[in-house]
Amino acid sequence: MPELPEVETIRAYIDEKVSGRRIDDIRVCLPRLIKNSSAGDMKKTLIGRTITACSRRGKYLLLHTDGPYSLLIHLRMTGSLIYDAGGGEEIRAQRIVFLLDTGKLIYRDIRTLGCLWLVPSAGLTHIKGYDTLGPDGNSPEFTTAYVYPRLKGTHRRIKSFLLDQTQVAGLGNIYVDEALFRAGIRPSRRCNHISRVTAGRLCDAVHAVLAEGLAHGGTTIRNFVGGSGREGNNQDYLRVYGREGQPCLVCGTEIRYVKQAGRGTHYCPHCQT
Ligand SMILES: [Zn+2]
Repeated sequence: MPELPEVETIRAYIDEKVSGRRIDDIRVCLPRLIKNSSAGDMKKTLIGRTITACSRRGKYLLLHTDGPYSLLIHLRMTGSLIYDAGGGEEIRAQRIVFLLDTGKLIYRDIRTLGCLWLVPSAGLTHIKGYDTLGPDGNSPEFTTAYVYPRLKGTHRRIKSFLLDQTQVAGLGNIYVDEALFRAGIRPSRRCNHISRVTAGRLCDAVHAVLAEGLAHGGTTIRNFVGGSGREGNNQDYLRVYGREGQPCLVCGTEIRYVKQAGRGTHYCPHCQT
């Protein structure tokens, strides 16, 4: 599933390509992906509007228009947005196509688990997962002062805390495992057993892994490609995720793999306590 760096990579590309473009028509090949509106209502609301920007919060993309409604998108497992200037190869798994005054914006999705919603252009979206997002893991608001009191207040395990989008937005399985490795924290550690100093280290690690992921254009494990169709190369820089059975890059101990918070979890039993 695309996490913050992958979604941000798509956002930057799409923002550059479609800002200022008018929506002339919409082809809805799979209406059930639109969660709070019919295909007809979406067309009525968006056709004729101009896209003003593409922004991101957590793993959500927001396609802003100059009208009263904008489009909120969650890519889930295999969703992606592609800009097609025309004349290229046919793109597979096109689910919703926005015909613009120049080119096409294509929502493609192989496993069709993605979600799109029409939301008010201003104020709350009333989409629960979006309105309740915590600060982005790479934002100035995600600090030790923010996270430490929240860790103190719960005995849940740190991995599930970091995956909780209401606490910190944008992290998924890959970047959580990487951040915990950098911070030297065992994924099963109880939040309230983490000291202020260690919480500071964790904060720094979250910022660092997200910044590196962004710098590398995202992580391509199975099928993530940025909006331009280029794969990210952050997978070449992962230190613990996907390395089960291989020696730890720091101490040489074999990296372990366990199921935790329902997710495959990688850690070094020596470096992470
Ligand atoms: Zn180690």
